Amino acid sequence: MSRTIFERFSDGKSGSFIPENDCPEVGFDILFQRKTPTGLPAVGEQEVIRHYVELASMNYHIDKGMYPLGSCTMKYNPVVNEEIAGSVQFTGLHPLQDEEDVQGALELIYNLEAALCEITGMAEFSLQPVAGAHGELTGMMIARDYFRVRKENRKTVLVPDSAHGTNPASVVTCGFTPRTVPSGEDGLIDIEILGKELDDDTAVVMLTLPNTLGLFEKDIGKIVKMAHSAGALVYMDGANMNALLGIVRPGDIGIDIMHLNLHKTFSTPHGGGGPGSGPVGVVKHLTEFLPVPRVVKEGDRFGFCSDLEKTIGKVHPWYGNFNVFVKAYAYICALGASGIREVAENAIINANYLMKKISRHYDLKYPGPCMHEFVASGRNLKKYGVRTTDVAKRLLDYGIHAPTIYFPLIVEEALMIEPVETEKKETLDHFADVMEKIAGEAKDDPDLLHRAPVTTPVRRLDETAAARDPEFCWPFEKGE
Ligand SMILES: *Cc1c(COP(=O)(O)O)cnc(C)c1O
Repeated sequence: MSRTIFERFSDGKSGSFIPENDCPEVGFDILFQRKTPTGLPAVGEQEVIRHYVELASMNYHIDKGMYPLGSCTMKYNPVVNEEIAGSVQFTGLHPLQDEEDVQGALELIYNLEAALCEITGMAEFSLQPVAGAHGELTGMMIARDYFRVRKENRKTVLVPDSAHGTNPASVVTCGFTPRTVPSGEDGLIDIEILGKELDDDTAVVMLTLPNTLGLFEKDIGKIVKMAHSAGALVYMDGANMNALLGIVRPGDIGIDIMHLNLHKTFSTPHGGGGPGSGPVGVVKHLTEFLPVPRVVKEGDRFGFCSDLEKTIGKVHPWYGNFNVFVKAYAYICALGASGIREVAENAIINANYLMKKISRHYDLKYPGPCMHEFVASGRNLKKYGVRTTDVAKRLLDYGIHAPTIYFPLIVEEALMIEPVETEKKETLDHFADVMEKIAGEAKDDPDLLHRAPVTTPVRRLDETAAARDPEFCWPFEKGE
């Protein structure tokens, strides 16, 4: 097998048949005739299909097996979403079309924003940001302009030590200075330390709810009050909203700005650089800072509004990743209010069930109960010379995607596991059994774990070299 379809097939086969010409031939300007071959692969239909199926089967994806990648919410992406988003009524649109011609698309944007407001309790959403990190940046820009208008020179953003690296990165990109708030023994924000850190230089308290350890900040009410009385805003990283849907509305507990990840919580495919969407929601007194254009409704017509006096401007061309909106909206409509709540309930039940089973063979720094995910630790296997990375590699041999590892940084040998609500009990049991088997192998045959994976198309890699030189990890000889 050779590398690409270009190299694999070039022997003049064809997958298409053009009928004999039964019209009179007319002269063809020789200038326009191609003088060199196209270089396109010449292949039969069956060979194309087999080539791509083979590639797909070498790859790992959510349609192939469980994908317990913590903090990534790798849930099943319903096919109906793709069907709807792929219909020509949506794919045939162009953002420069006249408002009158795209009333349906505008209505969808308007309705999706309204649904997100209902789910979160925020006053308004902008769908323009195209990733979670982009939403964070947009939120920080709103905070920056809010204090600029108020002529307050606040420079610090307080970020818990369990936060995603994107949080402090967004803070710095926006010209603020991040300051780390250490978590307490229980994995939650230490409110005594928070109290000491809060002052008239604090612009924002940026927290993740539930936090990245999968824990709900039970003092969130107090934290919000403390931040507000210091004159700061509260930003919520809502990438983990899967755990809160229909149960907690951030707007109701005093969050000022938040983002969602449609590509996590609302079932749109992600990973591999696919399109994302990180909508930003704000409370009423911050709506005038949102990016433009806004979609507005007058009577029963939809239109754009770009003259928001205090807007931070545009953060993306056009309106954001429209086809992601279509999928997320289809998902929300299909579930309805009660289905939305069931998502969170089942995500929480699945995570707690799995946490209990896994904790028989792996350490838990924070015993829970957890929300949608939990962080286990492989530190108990260190005595056999086995590390978390070996456990992760060995899982691949059993046909399971590895969890997130070595994150959050505050858990030694971390294994961050998020089963999501779309996995059945049988699948969770299988995963727990495999994890138990691997813990046994660590004791009995640590060398096997050091070599793992031993059954995948690509074996154990020098990861640094592979990241720098993709050719490095190609499993086949050229032209083989
Ligand atoms: C995934 C995630 C992000 C980043 O989202 P991207 O879409 O990858 O930019 C930020 N914060 C948390 C808590 C996340 O889980």
